[in-house]
Amino acid sequence: MSKLWNVAVVGATGAVGAQMIECLEERNFPVGKVRYLASARSAGEILEFKGKPVVVEELTHDSFEGIDIALFSAGGERSREFCPSAVQAGAVCIDNSSVWRMDPEVPLVVPEVNPHTIAQYTTKGIIANPNCSTIQMVVALKPLHDYATIKRIVVSTYQAVSGTGKKAIEELHDQIRAMLQGKPAECTVYPHRIAFNCLPQIDSFKENGYTGEEMKMVNETRKIMEAEIGVTATTVRVPVFYGHSESVNIETGRKITVDRARELLKSAPGVELADDPANGVYPMPIDAAGQDLTFVGRIREDESIENGLNLWIVADNIRKGAATNAVQIAEILIENYLK
Ligand code: NAP
Repeated sequence: MSKLWNVAVVGATGAVGAQMIECLEERNFPVGKVRYLASARSAGEILEFKGKPVVVEELTHDSFEGIDIALFSAGGERSREFCPSAVQAGAVCIDNSSVWRMDPEVPLVVPEVNPHTIAQYTTKGIIANPNCSTIQMVVALKPLHDYATIKRIVVSTYQAVSGTGKKAIEELHDQIRAMLQGKPAECTVYPHRIAFNCLPQIDSFKENGYTGEEMKMVNETRKIMEAEIGVTATTVRVPVFYGHSESVNIETGRKITVDRARELLKSAPGVELADDPANGVYPMPIDAAGQDLTFVGRIREDESIENGLNLWIVADNIRKGAATNAVQIAEILIENYLK
């Protein structure tokens, strides 16, 4: 029998944590013992793994004894404080927060793009999972970059509320219900109403006028693609529950025709081409939700520059944007690195 691995899911009660558990189950990850960790608020709650009950425990510095792989999705503060304890106890951390992503000693991994960088995990014992909107963009752009060298990316996002976690999902539900009943909508998670609205702010504003989310897309893209690509981003929260959409414009070193781009994307790992506009076929969040693939369509030449392309890219932010990507990393880790 092949080896089983003891896995801790930190943030097991959250939107991403719940999906991580599902991904481990669906992909038949060889789990030995599983431990679910969350805040004291959830300690004692009973969740399941493959139909068997698992009691949620409070996250402490002693939570990681006997754990081989710790999947973190409990917010940056917890990752900063507890990843070192997990590593100290002998676990490898795969972290969903932004805390370690730009650390030069921590690999930032999208398995379809830069799986070789996982080898660098040994320095700190941590592998960072990129930002959700960055993951789907680089999955789609990598084959185009390999063919024609992307020089510049202009991206605008349309991001689902599930990207903010379970409280934001509830907030959109509650606001829609309240408004349809003619009642006032309460805003607690977002600074303004999200129901029937769009918010051109994700994360806080930096001194340069960009938001944290926008700068993540700029910096993480370059690190993952291992290239000095110019990137400029506008990130927008929209009243969609699951699935981030992106309008992406690229400028390349040499021409890619629409046909060539379609050909490259058809055979690209993790990509599903959905590009038949005449028949109403293009990626939409309602189709991407619950899927692991990154959907690409609306491919057009940018007629305003010599070598440019426009694309519309959609993926499930909780799955490929977080949980699936993390479990894929864990799969490569046990296959190629852990003994
Ligand atoms: P969420 O639904 O709000 O879940 C947060 C999780 O963290 C819950 O399990 C919560 O436990 C736990 N937690 C909060 N405070 C804690 C504490 N003091 N000690 C231990 N556990 C604590 O958020 P989420 O969307 O799943 O996001 C979690 C992380 O993943 C964040 O770092 C986020 O940036 C990252 N991420 C999210 C997405 C996305 O699309 N949602 C994508 C990429 C990365 P309780 O239930 O006990 O409060």
